[in-house]
Amino acid sequence: MTVDKIKQPKKALSHIFYSKILFAFSLIVLILAIFSSRISFPRLSLIASHLTGSANTITATSRSAITNTSTQKMASSQYAKELEVAQLAVQRAARLTKRVFHEKAKGTVSKDDKSPVTIGDFGAQALIISALKANFPSDEIVAEEEAAQLREDTPLRDQIWELVKSTKLDDEAAEQLLGGAIKDADAMLEIIDQGNSKGGAKGRIWTIDPIDGTKGFLRGGQYAVCLGLMVDGDVKVGVLGCPNLPVDDAAPLTADIGTNATDEGRGVIFSAVQGQGATSRPLGTAGLAKGKSIAMKPITEMSNASFCESVEAGHSDQGVAGQIAQKLGITKPSVRMDSQAKYGSIARGAGDIYLRLPTSKSYQEKIWDHAAGDLIVREAGGQVTDVSGNRLDFSVGRTLAENKGVIAAPAAVHDQVIKVVQEVLGQQ
Ligand code: AMP
Ligand code: MG
Repeated sequence: MTVDKIKQPKKALSHIFYSKILFAFSLIVLILAIFSSRISFPRLSLIASHLTGSANTITATSRSAITNTSTQKMASSQYAKELEVAQLAVQRAARLTKRVFHEKAKGTVSKDDKSPVTIGDFGAQALIISALKANFPSDEIVAEEEAAQLREDTPLRDQIWELVKSTKLDDEAAEQLLGGAIKDADAMLEIIDQGNSKGGAKGRIWTIDPIDGTKGFLRGGQYAVCLGLMVDGDVKVGVLGCPNLPVDDAAPLTADIGTNATDEGRGVIFSAVQGQGATSRPLGTAGLAKGKSIAMKPITEMSNASFCESVEAGHSDQGVAGQIAQKLGITKPSVRMDSQAKYGSIARGAGDIYLRLPTSKSYQEKIWDHAAGDLIVREAGGQVTDVSGNRLDFSVGRTLAENKGVIAAPAAVHDQVIKVVQEVLGQQ
């Protein structure tokens, strides 16, 4: 007893001494490995744990390395299925909209708010919702269109059904993944009406704008097939199919980008997952083409910057945008194009800034008009806010009731842009 009592502190001291050496040694190995990047983090943590003798003695650094690795792994696989389904669903829906785009008669009808809707809008919405319900049956959906009008108009319904049943991807596995064909015209109407969620701050909710920029679509200009996934009010996945944008990410935005689109060299899908960056890939007709990472272009000189805005003067105040641009020192005329193609274009650095200035006090932006674009721009290194500099809040229902207007710019200059927006709007 006595001997033990005397010897124990010594033993403990030498133990502490050796563990300190091992601790320091493992730290050095860890630092060296990080710099050489030859040893993967999990292997490194194993080495560290061997060196220090037990899992309990893993250093704080290697512990956080393990956490980081598993978080990264989880992050890159998180929403992988949602992303794949969303992109294929958009690609298939875009195939349908392109068929209508090339038709003279687009089956256009007027909605209650007097805005136009075509057989392309209804058909694309049916195809996207059917793919989402096949894969994620309990998810809610906020989509722009509803089938009420089609229930009263059988010829219109039949026209849409003809389109929907004959639009497929040329890839059996992709079609299988999207759940295959819709049963019949009545099932199609029910599917269209499944986009009636009220939205909100809880759970998984998809947002769909089957043809954003319908006016551009009718004019032969830009439009986008838009799909976003929100989880608890936060956008996690965003996909934009832009059939009339150049495939080439480096193609500069020309003033005529919003008019007379042809198929030649055009068609792109933008996508993003929160925390995983943004990507573009050519819009295809079968499986997904290879994607590449996109990033916003840093603005070095405002005089060289370009800004995008709506073609429709009723959607964004072009006069105010002109004053803001002038005050910022932008010398180029605005690039006008319809739809969320604007978000995609600045995300890949073809343009720089997107200005959307309210034209009325009462209008509330719709979540399907912004969810995908907002995430894609932020994941490409941008910042997206309303005119007051607040992030867009997708958690308050089908509209962005808490926001007015949209200002999107590279993160480094966004504050500067908001300052000028505030100055100009303050003078109104
Ligand atoms: P854009 O092509 O960017 O002009 O946006 C098209 C979207 O503008 C449509 O999908 C409409 O939902 C939306 N919109 C309709 N009226 C207005 C308005 N008064 N202000 C802003 N956006 C509007
Ligand atoms: Mg829209």
